[in-house]
Amino acid sequence: MRTRTLLLIAALAAASGLVIAQQPPPQQPRKAPTTLDIYFIDTEGGQATFFMTPSGETLLFDTGNLTTDNRDADRITSVIKQVAVEQQIDQAIVSHYHGDHVGGAAELSRRFPVRHWWDHGGWTVEGQPNRRAAFDAYNAIRATANVTVPKPGQKIPMTDIDVTVVSNVGEFIKTPVAGMPGAGAPNPLCSQWKPRLQDATPENAYAIGAVIRYGNFRLLDLSDVVWNQERELVCPRNLLGTFDVYHTSRHGTDWAGSPQLVHAVHPRIAIMNNGPMKGGTKGTFEIVRSSPGIEDFWQLHYSLTDGKDMNSPDQFIATVESQPGHTGHYLKLSARKDGSFSVTNERTGFTKEYPAVHAAAPATASR
Ligand SMILES: [Zn+2]
Repeated sequence: MRTRTLLLIAALAAASGLVIAQQPPPQQPRKAPTTLDIYFIDTEGGQATFFMTPSGETLLFDTGNLTTDNRDADRITSVIKQVAVEQQIDQAIVSHYHGDHVGGAAELSRRFPVRHWWDHGGWTVEGQPNRRAAFDAYNAIRATANVTVPKPGQKIPMTDIDVTVVSNVGEFIKTPVAGMPGAGAPNPLCSQWKPRLQDATPENAYAIGAVIRYGNFRLLDLSDVVWNQERELVCPRNLLGTFDVYHTSRHGTDWAGSPQLVHAVHPRIAIMNNGPMKGGTKGTFEIVRSSPGIEDFWQLHYSLTDGKDMNSPDQFIATVESQPGHTGHYLKLSARKDGSFSVTNERTGFTKEYPAVHAAAPATASR
């Protein structure tokens, strides 16, 4: 019996020695990217965009949907775990309190330190019981969080990137964004602007929109600011300027994204945060594809709505599956200070390079 015990101990010691010998070397600290890396995470018609800067800072623009299985918080967590230098969120924007934007906020705050939140205040205009669950969850953690309600024109402080808030709480900037090429130029399309009847979801009207710059690279994200409001930013003068990337307003639905906005901001590419049955309307495809200077229209999801015949080729679409339980994917954009950038489809590895075209643009030029 004693012999057998000794043999067992020897075997265990040998086994544990083997385990020690096979352990990987300690992990090197992760390095920040040399580019501004932006991850447009598919949240099935919600919004969640994660910015990883060369100084190692992070910004999360919206937190996806609230679901019982934490699907979108999981998708965001997976990206943060893969790429963040410090496992934390330095700046988090909750653009407004619809569940597709604030949905993952409370869960993410349990998983990561969030240093600073930016939102439109501790109230929602849509208090219906079936609409306020995600807001209530966020509002509970908001009580003890570090929160700022920014005014239009205010900047979200980050080391490498310039983040200017252009809308919040239903108010808009009144003067051109300083230093933006094309900002302040008259917008000749305004004479054809037509108002649209708006759907009864007034939370959208309080959304935070932002202009984000890294050197000459420029991205516009107006979240869910609505059609009749966006006019204040581009008529009679375009206060925003011109951009490399237009992140579609209101998920590429007909409730936002007028030609007066899209064509004036003159994007090189559009990225649509649509879901299989949300956004991707025929009207959105037509307005974006007819925008002067547009090169590509990337999508976070294949669209099955009235614009389905107009989907971009699969390699420009992050998630193409729509059956329940499918895997979500993301598009990764890497921007350089000269204004050049690349976009990679995480699902396929397909990458497209966009060379710099406006490095020497003077402040008033309209590209
Ligand atoms: Zn939304």
